[in-house]
Amino acid sequence: MKYVYNFGDGKADGKADMKNLLGGKGANLAEMNLLDIPVPPGFTLTTEVCTEYYKNNKSFPNELDNEVRDCLSSVEAIMNTKFGDENNPLLLSVRSGARQSMPGMMETVLNVGLTSKTIPGLIKKTNNPRFVYDAYRRLITMYADVVMEKAAGIEPKEGNGIRQKMEHHLSTYKNENNLINDTDLSENDWIAVIDIFKNEIKTTLGSDFPDDHNAQLWGGIEAVFKSWNGARAISYRKIENIPEEWGTAVNVQTMVFGNTGENSATGVAFTRNPATGENKFFGEWLTNAQGEDVVAGLRTPNPLNEDTKTNETKNLPSLEESMPDIYNELYNIRTRLEKHYSDMQDIEFTIEDGKLWMLQTRVGKRNGSAAIKMAVDMMNENMIDKNTALMRVNPNQLDELLHPALDTDSEQSAILLTKGLPAGPGGAKGRVVFTADDAEAWNKKGEQVILVREETSPEDVHGMHAAEAILTARGGMTSHAALVARGWGKCCVVGCNELNISVDKKEMKVGEVTVKEGDWVTMNGALGKVYLGQLDLTPADPDENQEYKELMRWADETRKLKIRTNAESPDDAKQAIKFGAEGIGLCRTEHMFFDEKRILAMRKMILSDSEGDRRDAVMGLLPFQKEDFKGILKAMEGKPVTIRLLDPPLHEFITLDDDQINELANNIGIDASIVSQRINSLHELNPMLGHRGCRLGIAYPEITEMQASAILEASAELTNEGVNVNPEIMIPLVGAVAEYIDQEKIIREVATKIEKQYSLTLKYMVGTMIELPRACLTADEIAEHAEFFSFGTNDLTQTTYGFSRDDIGSFLPDYLDRNILPGDPFQSLDVNGVGKLVAMAVKLGRDVNSTLKIGICGEHGGDPESIHFCKNIGLDYVSCSPYRVPIARLSAAQAELD
Ligand code: PEP
Ligand code: MG
Repeated sequence: MKYVYNFGDGKADGKADMKNLLGGKGANLAEMNLLDIPVPPGFTLTTEVCTEYYKNNKSFPNELDNEVRDCLSSVEAIMNTKFGDENNPLLLSVRSGARQSMPGMMETVLNVGLTSKTIPGLIKKTNNPRFVYDAYRRLITMYADVVMEKAAGIEPKEGNGIRQKMEHHLSTYKNENNLINDTDLSENDWIAVIDIFKNEIKTTLGSDFPDDHNAQLWGGIEAVFKSWNGARAISYRKIENIPEEWGTAVNVQTMVFGNTGENSATGVAFTRNPATGENKFFGEWLTNAQGEDVVAGLRTPNPLNEDTKTNETKNLPSLEESMPDIYNELYNIRTRLEKHYSDMQDIEFTIEDGKLWMLQTRVGKRNGSAAIKMAVDMMNENMIDKNTALMRVNPNQLDELLHPALDTDSEQSAILLTKGLPAGPGGAKGRVVFTADDAEAWNKKGEQVILVREETSPEDVHGMHAAEAILTARGGMTSHAALVARGWGKCCVVGCNELNISVDKKEMKVGEVTVKEGDWVTMNGALGKVYLGQLDLTPADPDENQEYKELMRWADETRKLKIRTNAESPDDAKQAIKFGAEGIGLCRTEHMFFDEKRILAMRKMILSDSEGDRRDAVMGLLPFQKEDFKGILKAMEGKPVTIRLLDPPLHEFITLDDDQINELANNIGIDASIVSQRINSLHELNPMLGHRGCRLGIAYPEITEMQASAILEASAELTNEGVNVNPEIMIPLVGAVAEYIDQEKIIREVATKIEKQYSLTLKYMVGTMIELPRACLTADEIAEHAEFFSFGTNDLTQTTYGFSRDDIGSFLPDYLDRNILPGDPFQSLDVNGVGKLVAMAVKLGRDVNSTLKIGICGEHGGDPESIHFCKNIGLDYVSCSPYRVPIARLSAAQAELD
């Protein structure tokens, strides 16, 4: 097996489609070589090395050493230098590179190869001792942090890591010597600082910083492999569903320096604007700096060109103005790379003494609206075809377009706290917290939080995920927080340099204003503004977005699955139609009973002990229900509307305190103790498996009668008014065909009566939910009677797995941590188990009833992966909440193309 792949000087062992083996970075470095784009030569240790390393108790394959040595010789030959040589030393970078980009989640060590032996040689060669010592202190900082601390498994308390200690020493040194920026430090200053660093390493970590180039190289390589299993990489993998087995590759590459003087620079760019999708070259750069300075947001970067300038950066020098020839060369590479990959690229470059080097190209992360614009534009530019354009947008990214923005009126009168860079979309409000752990803990308690951090540490990912939005004091548009937030479509403002944050005191200050932990702030991610307090958010209106409309039109032309929505009110129904819903797949009628006027009649009904009283109470609800159904049927303009008969356990309506019991007793004219007694008698040990679903209508037929009358009278009256209606009456939680037959009979009798009364023929259907394993197993029997099936996969998951849908939260995290479940089965359908039942029921049902209409209305109906499954087993439609309708439309189109 070959473990190491070379690249350099226009040649490479690998290429772009070898990402699984070489990681994204390694594969693209190889490809750029093949395209004759200038890339510092180097080599890639494959992801298989990583897998072997972990399989063999953290030891490397025997052949690795030789292969690395061979590759190193090739690099030395190209560069005409030698690793560890005292006159002409080669310096190396060691970086991670997984199959899928995991920005900042793993480790990097730069400037490897600087030792007491090589330093004098490099000084002689560069004639720049200050630069050499600056590079050395960077190596020491990174190496101590990454190799000697993290990879060694040392976990210091927050703020107490070796890196922070060294940073602290550096600021103390600067303060004592009246130096402001790192660039103010001279050669001798760095020599003094390096001495302090080395002492600190010895004291804190108990060993010396290694003075041997090979020890540094192998220390770096092993640390990067170890970082695959570092806390933040694991946390990111979980969120992004990246399998643990993939492993990372390691890229070892010749160092090129953007910090050798004013003729050197480094930068990050996107071939199109990743925030808006505009076809404009977009980026940031810094003179006399190393790449980490741009990405880590330690210095505020300059705009790449005119197109990148904003009001805040309009007076800063662009690369276009400062180094026009290099800018042109870079622009040319931008065009070639985008054309070659047919997608927007995120690139990193370094200029060393006037020579341009490309360090990375990869498909750039982008937010939702940018993804849509790029896909539609690239199709119109003939760069990609329509199907590729449809596949380019992750359906979940549409969520951002559907996200609320700040209400303009309320924003105008709001108190502006501060302003930064607009790094993530939409508006968000929440209570301020200052650590990622707090964000996660508060979120678990049900609080909406905004995570505020000094800068953008990848260790914060779990908190960033839990937060509504992210706010940082430092960092640019390409900083880590910005990239991560954009990838998730999360509201984010970075680089608010007025913010003075104290994590210890759990507060932040802007001038005289103090915001403490738990205080509310509201953010406008599109403008980069942060306001005090809670502002109104307005719902999104994607219809304003032409590219979105175009992409959705293509999706609708492509998909065959119909998309419906779960809605109980005419307003929700109208919203869903705006989003493209083609019907209602689930109207949960019990939600209509919680209104103050109705709940009393409902409670009277539940507490009656004679059929006569119960019938009176139930029929009191009929006029209300009829109005509800009229509203919804009218709003849906003849589209199918599936209305489910009463489903939940009755005790949900009678969870009352003493005052409410007294009030109810007064109201219905019986003693409070009798009310209490009756409530107690309805108590069930397992209500979800108790008296609910069609079992209610079987015990209390008058409920079914009333609901069927309300639906069908509403339909008859609307029909007479000339309104088109299409009701589908759905019987819940059927497990045996006899239950279905019992309830259907009541509905059909009501229908006959109403048809006579209104002198018309009603167009309606009767069908059932399939949410019990027994219903799946006997679907053929049920399908002989039912006109439609709708899979209630929430209950079906609950009853198949035996996981209570309300209680799974207490043990699910353990299941996920230990890989016992791949994900939450209530979010994405368990295809192997629940899915098998669903597929079986579809087949059994259709075999006896070929016109059986089949859909799904559990939460899975809005989940892209589950939608693929629904298409594959031949469902007619999926139904989901109104805000997921566009996501379902695109997913259904992608399912056709897969
Ligand atoms: C279901 O069980 O999947 C369903 C849609 O019904 P509910 O969530 O109301 O139980
Ligand atoms: Mg259900």
